[in-house]
Amino acid sequence: MIDKASAIDTSGMTDGFFQPAICRNCGTPVDGKFCAACGQKKSTRLCASHLRKEAWEKIRWFEADMAHSALRVVTRPGIVAREYVFGQRKSHTHPMKLLLASIIALLLVIAQVDYLGTDDARLGRAIALVQAYSKWSFSLGILAVLIASKVVFWSRQGFNFVEHLVLAAYTHFVIIVANIVNLSPLLLDSNVQLVKTHQFYTAYYMPWVEAGVVFVAFGQFFAIDWRQQWWWAAMGAALFYLAKETLFHLYARAVIRIVVAQLA
Ligand SMILES: [Zn+2]
Repeated sequence: MIDKASAIDTSGMTDGFFQPAICRNCGTPVDGKFCAACGQKKSTRLCASHLRKEAWEKIRWFEADMAHSALRVVTRPGIVAREYVFGQRKSHTHPMKLLLASIIALLLVIAQVDYLGTDDARLGRAIALVQAYSKWSFSLGILAVLIASKVVFWSRQGFNFVEHLVLAAYTHFVIIVANIVNLSPLLLDSNVQLVKTHQFYTAYYMPWVEAGVVFVAFGQFFAIDWRQQWWWAAMGAALFYLAKETLFHLYARAVIRIVVAQLA
């Protein structure tokens, strides 16, 4: 990766950040609309229209550098999110695209190991309905990350909603990858007893793994001084856990109501 001011600079985000005629992807002075060195279009500050238009226009699913880029997100989600927000759009895979790809992969793994299944045939249709809804519960995590960063860091460093959303998407991508890795041993053997044991232990360590990802990502994104301000990131991780638990319970209750209504 190229070295750029944005990753080192610990000051916040402002509208004026994108005014100088410098490519925010590689640091080369830009004369015109596109960077002569790396080809990136001169970046502007992220706003809602980026997610609506620009984002989906150029989605190509199988990019050669996607795997490499994904690997970097796994180890440094907050830094990648920060670089993306500060203008390095060409160097990183679009956060929503990465997130969507990981959710699809997770759903495939879940279907393969029958993780949410049951051996109780009597519950039949009700279980099938619950399964259909609970598969998507993994997507609630991104909301939990967004709530945690918005509440704990509020307007620290001046980030807007979309910029927080970019952080949440990259962070949640790593959480989903962690869940895929956690489930992958079951791809080899997934008898009912093994799945039950796996679920039992997962409930103990997975929340810590997920909160750990949020802790690191927040620390990186908000350029925290780890010695003096680590507790900001810790508060964010704790709030993420609470928000996720609350959202899951609300979602579960809603699913139960929907299923009961559909069976009636
Ligand atoms: Zn450039």
